[in-house]
Amino acid sequence: MKTYIEEPRMSMGRTKTRAITYTVDKNGCHICNSHKRSQGYPVAHRGGKTVRLHRYIWEKYNGAIPDGSCVCHSCDNRQCINPEHLHLGSSTDNMNEAWDRNRFEGRALPPCGEANPCSKLTAKAVKEILNSKWEKGDRLRLARKFGVTPTAIYLVRSRQNWKHAQ
Ligand SMILES: [Zn+2]
Repeated sequence: MKTYIEEPRMSMGRTKTRAITYTVDKNGCHICNSHKRSQGYPVAHRGGKTVRLHRYIWEKYNGAIPDGSCVCHSCDNRQCINPEHLHLGSSTDNMNEAWDRNRFEGRALPPCGEANPCSKLTAKAVKEILNSKWEKGDRLRLARKFGVTPTAIYLVRSRQNWKHAQ
């Protein structure tokens, strides 16, 4: 069992922290075992609100979640709080359609949801990743652009994923 991060919360007018602990499974998922679950997601209660821990952790590592965005699991495991398995997406249908038509540019986010996992790169995206220059910070830029984790970009570049791509 490992301790991840301290989750701050107010108690009797004072800020207290509670450790978020987890175990690592065979997929590299960090399975939270310190917090209760709601709809499969480990959650904390802060300021009268229920906060899903995977969102909390994503923000810890990446900053505030943009409006209208969701934090998705590339591993499809709701109990997982590994920041490497988390990435931004949007659940709106409009975004789905725009993504399908390949209209996304720059900061736009791909759709997300059980039926349409945004962890998947298109052949076109892979081609762009392979053809892009290796510069400082571009792994993150490409990851944001295509709505995947920086690890996913690395796996494409190091030819561990999409080995057949040109
Ligand atoms: Zn995971």
